[in-house]
Amino acid sequence: MNEKNTLPRIHKIKIKKPFSIKYREKIICPYCQNSEDFYEIIENATFFISYLQNYDGFLEPIEEEVEILGPVKFFCGICNAELTQLKKKI
Ligand SMILES: [Zn+2]
Repeated sequence: MNEKNTLPRIHKIKIKKPFSIKYREKIICPYCQNSEDFYEIIENATFFISYLQNYDGFLEPIEEEVEILGPVKFFCGICNAELTQLKKKI
């Protein structure tokens, strides 16, 4: 055992606000400048649900699997503009 490796590695990230350097580009709706509310619509999703039937006829779901064929569309939550291309850039 190497003594140097016994100390846990600590990574500290300090962010002072307001901060002029952007670490990550935020998504901002180009139509209404919204940068907080968004929603996503997933089309063509197939759900596989496995059931186990009890003696009294009750179906108990035991496994769920989701297969997404897409497309996945991303929208502005304020003006409902489609922003899928903006999300893909990040
Ligand atoms: Zn918008």
